[in-house]
Amino acid sequence: MTEESKPEKVNIKSEPKVSPKAYGFNLDEFEVVRDTVKRGDTFGVIMDKYGVGPGKVYQIVNKIPDSIMNFKRINQGKPYTILKSKDSTSALQHFIYENSRINYSVLSLTDSIFAKKANKPVTIKQKSTSGVISSSLSAAIDEAGLDYLLTNRFADIYQWSVDFFKLQKGDQFKLIYKEKYIDDTIYAGLESIDAAVLKHKGREFYAFDFEIDTLTGRTDYFDENAKTLRSFFLKAPLKFSRISSRYTRRRFHPVQKRWKAHKGTDYAAGTGTPIWSTADGVVIKSSYTSGNGKYVKIRHTNKYTTQYLHMSRRAVKVGEYVKQGEIIGYVGQTGLATGPHVCYRFWVNGRQVDPYKQDLPDAEPMKEELKPKYFEFIKPLKTQLDDIEYVDLNS
Ligand SMILES: [Zn+2]
Repeated sequence: MTEESKPEKVNIKSEPKVSPKAYGFNLDEFEVVRDTVKRGDTFGVIMDKYGVGPGKVYQIVNKIPDSIMNFKRINQGKPYTILKSKDSTSALQHFIYENSRINYSVLSLTDSIFAKKANKPVTIKQKSTSGVISSSLSAAIDEAGLDYLLTNRFADIYQWSVDFFKLQKGDQFKLIYKEKYIDDTIYAGLESIDAAVLKHKGREFYAFDFEIDTLTGRTDYFDENAKTLRSFFLKAPLKFSRISSRYTRRRFHPVQKRWKAHKGTDYAAGTGTPIWSTADGVVIKSSYTSGNGKYVKIRHTNKYTTQYLHMSRRAVKVGEYVKQGEIIGYVGQTGLATGPHVCYRFWVNGRQVDPYKQDLPDAEPMKEELKPKYFEFIKPLKTQLDDIEYVDLNS
């Protein structure tokens, strides 16, 4: 990774720094005390420390509803801020309790007793990065010092178009993404991946996040030619594992110790790893045999059927309708299996085939009338993406 493309390091601060303005107040007007709830602290104990007596506490607790400030749930370790008057009385004027990193409650004792709930301002920052795959995508994201959520989101975008089990050393990626910050400084998570390109075996796979329904705000990813990245089938029935045996007409069976066809693809993964349906469909078998172990079979259309073997546990029943990506069971080694894996089988018109050698159907394409707007939308994003330099594997 080159010096200038290094992602900005963001430190998550446990105690947010005091800015002159906070919680809607101009802090210069007060004597500010910042503290955290200690062991044994209750609302009454904290108030007492700042000169608010039990009589007043009683009034406050009776007046302010739990939904605004829950006095019984003042939790140890939570930060709070006291704003006192700058005059000689040094009276407590406002008590601010942080319910979460974003949400806080303010209790004011200036004129009458008053309380409200509010959120800290959240800002969205756009960033870009690039990386190179040395062992796996997650390792590459990790090496670049990025949020692991990026890996998941990134893999989700390409789950139909790129077989992540075939990613190679030297494959590269570039990303334009957005992050959320509280008070402009505190990292609060990934917002979105706006554009990405994955260079796999020398071919570039572009992806742009585009709003396809203005009413619901639903977005989806498309390539530089407005072609959907989704297809009717996912490339694999689980995430981040490895193929231990491919579809072949002839292999030496490790348990039966004889040569026979292996009409499936084996994915090795830890026991309990979720297995999902590669397409929408109806469960036609959820059963057990001595060879298959616990298995599930799904009919997607009249033409396509898939089957998933050796589960430790099944999660669906016959007749259930499942969506693409929905969990149907968990990896195990029931039946004839030497280790935990899922054997994925695929039928076209009742004939067992290798799904990786089929021309499989796309999902719903982009509506024609959206295309001009789409091309206009991606133009600056693509330029921005192309301007990011790929990381050199040897640097
Ligand atoms: Zn198998």
